[in-house]
Amino acid sequence: MTTTTTAEHPRQIWDAALGQLQLRVTRPNFETWLKNTVGVAYRDGEFVVGAPNAFVAETLEQRMYSLISRALESVVDSEVEIRFEIMTLDGEPPALSSSNGEHSDVPEAPPHAVAQPIIHRPASLNSRYTFERFVVGKSNELAHAAATAVAGRPGELYNPLVLYSDVGLGKTHLMHAIGHRATSRGLSLIYSTTEEFTNSYIRAIREGTTDEFRERYRSADLLLLDDVQFLIGKEQTQEGFFHTFNALHMTNRQIVLTSDRPVSALALLEDRIQSRLAGGLVVDIQPPDVETRIAILRAKAEETRQDVPDSALQFLAERVHKNIRELEGSLNRVVAFSDLTGSPVTVELTKRAVADMVETAAERHIPDAAIVEAVSDHFGVSIEAIKGRKRDKKTAQARQVAMYLLREESQLGLSVIGKILGGKDHTTVSHGCDRIANQLNVDPQLRRHLINIREALASR
Ligand code: ADP
Ligand code: MG
Repeated sequence: MTTTTTAEHPRQIWDAALGQLQLRVTRPNFETWLKNTVGVAYRDGEFVVGAPNAFVAETLEQRMYSLISRALESVVDSEVEIRFEIMTLDGEPPALSSSNGEHSDVPEAPPHAVAQPIIHRPASLNSRYTFERFVVGKSNELAHAAATAVAGRPGELYNPLVLYSDVGLGKTHLMHAIGHRATSRGLSLIYSTTEEFTNSYIRAIREGTTDEFRERYRSADLLLLDDVQFLIGKEQTQEGFFHTFNALHMTNRQIVLTSDRPVSALALLEDRIQSRLAGGLVVDIQPPDVETRIAILRAKAEETRQDVPDSALQFLAERVHKNIRELEGSLNRVVAFSDLTGSPVTVELTKRAVADMVETAAERHIPDAAIVEAVSDHFGVSIEAIKGRKRDKKTAQARQVAMYLLREESQLGLSVIGKILGGKDHTTVSHGCDRIANQLNVDPQLRRHLINIREALASR
């Protein structure tokens, strides 16, 4: 539990950060989103901000995170992870926190806010993250298949199963879905975020209760550990993880891990963990293509009881494309906007509701030349060759990947892409894009290529 002194502390830190933020955002923005927030807790590099409702928490997380983290970091003078929780101004969490880790579901809160535990409260499964609510498309088909297989026959097929993707693409959702299915069959499981695992392990060491810790973790039929990239640099915890992992693995208990970095890039993890990870199955989730994005939006729209026309879904799907959490957030915003103004959802209203989100997407826009260059660097094929006529396998593949990425990342039209790539015909471009899209599904090496190129682009 937080002591009085540390409880006072986050308030002051947050007030200082608010002072800075006030200077950086417009007044309406400050009044709407920031004014009624409160600093709740600060420990182990994590700062918890209380927001008055789910909509505010979500907006802060999705649209102001980097701004807020810069302000906070300048106050505390070190790196912080920020978590937003729904909490009233007097620091009282809403009814949800009175539960002691049993699953609690607050209908008006967005899924990821409910799923977050308060400091040491054990994480629990989110009731919305089921297989039934998971929309399957080309980008996530493999991960979905692996997850259902493991849920059906835990410990028998792929062990560990590692789900890997960029943030917001459904790893946690699939992991919880495995959990739901397994528990419905009477199996016992432990679901934990890596942060929670770390905290309880450290606490166990401090309190001399590592035996109990081991017992607790080793008694489960399944261990689901979310976001293992947080193990990086935490040697003591890695040690704890390794022993737990081994004990479970040796008795054929199922282990499921998620990570937002490819396993090979978890370079700082000790070798022994790495080789164990490699012994299971690593599946990735790619960013969803436009059809999947529309399908996801449609599914979410149906849950809202609001009538959202396809044209509005199309508009959102075309603009928000990398991250499903943002995609959901954009729809929530549109629905809230329509509620507030009492007007039906139209494309016009949608445009207005997400005007500033669209702007952020545009800020992230990657120049076409950077895409071609990244593809050229990755495949070791010169830019001239990509734009040229050579048709050997390597050059042709690099060219088609460039076409695909120009379409996916920059949302350019086929003939524009043709022009960028040295005057290719739009049917050639269309063929190239389709070919890559189809191959992605059956060719893990190609998936790996795309992940690496996208990572290079993201870290430009
Ligand atoms: P990650 O763990 O990869 O960061 P999450 O699992 O938290 O991502 O997913 C982010 C949000 O997007 C969640 O609300 C989740 O329910 C939703 N989501 C992700 N993929 C899908 C999908 N295929 N169908 C429906 N919802 C999805
Ligand atoms: Mg996650």
